[in-house]
Amino acid sequence: MSLPSLARPTIAEIDLANLRANLRSSRSFIGEDLTYLAVVKADGYGHGARECARALRDEGAGWLGVATPEEAFDLRTAGLDGPILCMGGFWPGQEDYIIGLDLTTVVFSVELAARLNAAAAAADQIVQYHVKIDTGMGRVGIRFDDLEVFARALLGFNNLRLDGLMTHFAAADDLTDDFTDLQVRRFYDAVDVFKAAGHDTTYIDLANSPGAVAHPDARGNMVRLGGILYGLGGDVLPDGIPKPTLKPVMSLHTAITQIKRVPAGETIGYGRTFTTKRDTQIGTIPIGYHDGYPRALSNKGHVLVNERPAPVLGRVSMDWTVIDLTDAPDVKIGDRVTVMGRQGGLSVTAEDLAKLTNTISYEITCGISSRVPRRYIESDE
Ligand SMILES: *Cc1c(COP(=O)(O)O)cnc(C)c1O
Repeated sequence: MSLPSLARPTIAEIDLANLRANLRSSRSFIGEDLTYLAVVKADGYGHGARECARALRDEGAGWLGVATPEEAFDLRTAGLDGPILCMGGFWPGQEDYIIGLDLTTVVFSVELAARLNAAAAAADQIVQYHVKIDTGMGRVGIRFDDLEVFARALLGFNNLRLDGLMTHFAAADDLTDDFTDLQVRRFYDAVDVFKAAGHDTTYIDLANSPGAVAHPDARGNMVRLGGILYGLGGDVLPDGIPKPTLKPVMSLHTAITQIKRVPAGETIGYGRTFTTKRDTQIGTIPIGYHDGYPRALSNKGHVLVNERPAPVLGRVSMDWTVIDLTDAPDVKIGDRVTVMGRQGGLSVTAEDLAKLTNTISYEITCGISSRVPRRYIESDE
């Protein structure tokens, strides 16, 4: 049985034309002669990894980046071939999976390299891998000051070839902090250590979105772009510098389910956190925090209806949110409500919702749950 066509109206629209345009404008801004790794981890930051990966490949992304081998498996299952980098490495026992799916994994310990080498030898293959160097992020990676023994140990694995060296920035979006410069210096020193040990690597990559846009000396010969491809530059790129033109890719829409008159002095929703101050027309919309519309927007957010803002009244609940339609008396049941995106001259961006809820735009789009169907569109701009 398939879903009825008149389903719950809450959907995320994903504009693949804007996604491709963001890669094009990023590439012309950052440099045409680099290799582009398009990061599609976390289901493409909530936009749908398979569809985004296909569109980005078509637009010339040489590599795809995922967090886990499981995410790479999903892409291979969807028919995506070509290079995929597992940026978070793999878990012991997954090495056959890396080789069988022809993935490239990041390695950050001798133990992982030894496991990969044993599996590669059993499969009678030479397997390529990348090494992640921790130059100050303090998360995953082999420390920059602990490399000589590591670089030499890797040479002993006869079924492996080191194809790339990478690092990851902690604060590339903050131009008041020169920590990125220190990370760049530590990284290039590390590259020299690997060269001196006898490795000949193809890829040298450091930069995420803010690194690639704001730090020209950090571009290496490959950049790993996530956020800006999805148009999320507003809160992760520094202010006041030149940037590529970016267009939002995700918008979020629903429709009015119910409209009611409520007299002044009544309360709306859980916890009775909002009391009507006037005779109020309220509208109920089928979106809540399970869909990824944050509960922190209770009494704070607003949506767009008939090209006007309509404030959120009371608590956002799991499945429903109530909005104020008193100033929009012409609204009818079924009218389109834009929770994130544009209506007429107004817009609500992921950055706006992030600011109101004390987070970054990435967490907003990643948080749109699997209950919300993704509809893929091609805007004709
Ligand atoms: C997520 C990730 C990126 C992409 O970062 P953006 O800020 O989204 O461009 C790049 N490199 C690594 C290692 C990552 O984990």
